[in-house]
Amino acid sequence: MGHHPVTGFWTLSLHPWLRHWRIWLALLLIGIMAPGQRVGQVSRRGGQNPMVTWYVNTRQRAVALTFDDGPSPLITPEILALLKKYHDRATFFVLGQKALKYPRLLKTEVQDGMEVGNHTFGHINLTQYSTAEDYGDLRRTRQIIWRIVHTTPLVMRPPYGAYSPGVLQAAAQAGERVVLWSSAENSLDHTNSSVSAMVFRIIHNLRPGDIVLFHDGNGGRWETVAALAIILKDLKSLGYQCVTVSQLLKMQ
Ligand SMILES: [Zn+2]
Repeated sequence: MGHHPVTGFWTLSLHPWLRHWRIWLALLLIGIMAPGQRVGQVSRRGGQNPMVTWYVNTRQRAVALTFDDGPSPLITPEILALLKKYHDRATFFVLGQKALKYPRLLKTEVQDGMEVGNHTFGHINLTQYSTAEDYGDLRRTRQIIWRIVHTTPLVMRPPYGAYSPGVLQAAAQAGERVVLWSSAENSLDHTNSSVSAMVFRIIHNLRPGDIVLFHDGNGGRWETVAALAIILKDLKSLGYQCVTVSQLLKMQ
């Protein structure tokens, strides 16, 4: 039988292709890995350290809203009222000194089904102290929370998002998971951000499993409450459920 034109064609074209398979494989791997590496070690959603949580890998349409630096009589009650209205839950990373000052607000948070996380006693930068001092601070805050609401925090957020191996060790010793926030989900509510800018920033970038950062401390602003009212309504219409960080962690 004579030469088959189709087989001949494939023989000719497959040879160089196969000879360069290593190059093709390398290009394929670069294509897969490049999007996450474009901004260095921290991707659009967070970093790589397995001891720190920036987001949760889940297919469920759920997110965790978090509020730092409170409780504060200025805006915490309004935030709780909004969450209640939409049957949503959130996590409050409280300061030990604020919990001591406003114990009733801490009790209301827990009664309303919210999670209370540890944010240190007085908002110190934990990386500037020894592991033993960090652990001492976390333990002191845990004890304050326990005395008021009889629950111990499962999660902690280091002030300024600052952590070191020592901070991670102290948190592990306290039995608290270190939780930051998804890179694109910082409301920037403690800056001069307008309500519409905050709403756009949060909703535009949101993905299932994201952890969103707000503040309800002394620096808490009415804009946070106004933005939250719109965000909660938008999340409802987008089919998102707001859960606590510990609930979100169970959805992965
Ligand atoms: Zn803070």
